[in-house]
Amino acid sequence: MALIVQKYGGTSVGTIDRIRNVANRIKEQRDQGHQVVAVISAMGGVTDRLISTAQEISENPSEREMDVLLSSGEQQSIALLTIALNEIGIKAVSATGRQAGITTSGSHTRGRIESLDPSLIQEYLEDDYTIVVAGFQGTNPKGLIQTLGRGGSDLSAIAVASSIKADLCQILTDVDGVYTADPRVVPKARKLPEISYDELLELASVGTKVMQSRSVEFAKKYGVKFEVRSSLNQNPGTIVTEEHEAMESVVIRGVSIERSQARVTITGIPDTPGMSAKILGSLAEAEVNIDMIVSNIAHDGLARHSFTMHTSDLGRAQKALKPALIELDELGGNSSIETEAGIAKLSCVGIGMRSHTGVASKMFAALGEAGINIGMITTSEIKISVTVEEEQIEDAARVVHTAFDLDT
Ligand code: ADP
Ligand code: ASP
Ligand code: MG
Repeated sequence: MALIVQKYGGTSVGTIDRIRNVANRIKEQRDQGHQVVAVISAMGGVTDRLISTAQEISENPSEREMDVLLSSGEQQSIALLTIALNEIGIKAVSATGRQAGITTSGSHTRGRIESLDPSLIQEYLEDDYTIVVAGFQGTNPKGLIQTLGRGGSDLSAIAVASSIKADLCQILTDVDGVYTADPRVVPKARKLPEISYDELLELASVGTKVMQSRSVEFAKKYGVKFEVRSSLNQNPGTIVTEEHEAMESVVIRGVSIERSQARVTITGIPDTPGMSAKILGSLAEAEVNIDMIVSNIAHDGLARHSFTMHTSDLGRAQKALKPALIELDELGGNSSIETEAGIAKLSCVGIGMRSHTGVASKMFAALGEAGINIGMITTSEIKISVTVEEEQIEDAARVVHTAFDLDT
C-alpha cells in the first residue's frame, strides 16, 4: 500500500465528464489498496474568468479581495470532485487550503507557503478517507486567504507530498510529460523520460508552464521526487529528480519560449557608481518585473542599459523611469529612453552546457541560417536566452530544436 499525492490541473477537471474521469482514476488507485490525497485546480478557465470579471468592475482591484475571489474557483472544484467520488462509492472529504493546514506569507496574489500542518489530512487518512485538497491557496497567520501565484496548485501538491511524506507525487495534466519543447509549438518535441530539478526549474522560469517554477524550487529544496503525466491516458510520464552523471551527456534538454516581451533601452547614463541602482530601484518600486538586463560600457563617459519585461509592464516602467532620468541628467547624463514591444524570448536549457563548449554559437548559427535576427542575449550556467521578433518565435524554437538534435 502506498500513499500517493495526485495533482489534477484545470483542464483535467474542466468539465463534468473530466471530473468523473478523475474520480475514476482515483478509484483505480483505491482499488489497488493505495491511499490518495488529491490536490485540485479550479475548472479550466474559471480563474481567468474571475480575473476579468473583477477587472470589469475595477481597473485596479484590491489584491486582498482578488485572493478571496480567485480561491473560490478551487473551492468549487474540490467539492464537485468529492461529490463525484462519493457517488462511485469512495469515502472522501474535501479540504480548503486552511483546513489542509497551509499557512502562507508574503503578498496577496503571490503568497508563499510558510508551513504546512498536515494533522487534519493525517486524521482523515487514518480513517481511510480520500482527501481532496484545494490547490493554489492557504491562509496567512492573520487568517486571511492568500493565493500562490498562477499555476500555484503545483506548489500546493508538492508541499502536501513533502509534509505527509508521500511515497509518490504525480502531477497529472493534459500532456503526458515534460517535452523537449511545448508540443503545441514544436510538433517534433519529444517526451523526456526524466529531467533534473535544475533543468525544469530553468525551463519553467523562462516560459515552460507545464510546472510552476516555484513548485520545482520547493521540490528541489525538500527533495520531493515527482512525476508529470497525463490525466487522460496511462502513458508513462517524466520523472523529475536530482541530477545524476548520465544526464550531463545531453547538452540541451529543452527549448522554451516566452511571448509578449518588451525591451526598454536607456542611453546617455553617466558612467559613475550608483546609476544602475537608481534606474532599477525606480522600476522595483513600481513593481515592474525585470527579466534580461544588458549593459554596455560607455564611450564618451556615457553608458546604456537595456532590459526586458512583460509587455503589460511597459507603461508602468516608462512612467517610473521619467523621474529617474531627470536625476541622471542632473548628474551629468544625457539620457533618453527607447522602447520596443512585440518581441519574444527563446531559451535553451541543459546541464550538459557546463561541460560542453560551442553551444551558444550553434544556437546563433541556426537562427542566422533561418534569417532570424537576434536582439539581446543572456546566459547562465545552464541556459542561453535570446530575444527575437515575436512573429518569428515559433520558427526560432523549431529551428533551434532541430539544431540540437532534439527532433529525433
Ligand atoms: P494544468 O492545467 O494541468 O496545470 P498547464 O496548462 O498549466 O496544465 O500545463 C500544461 C501545458 O503546458 C500543456 O498543455 C503544454 O501545452 C504546456 N507546455 C509548455 N511547455 C511544455 C513542455 N516543454 N512540455 C510539456 N508541456 C508544455
Ligand atoms: N487556478 C489557478 C490558476 O489558474 C491555479 C492553478 O491552476 O494551478 O492559475
Ligand atoms: Mg499548471
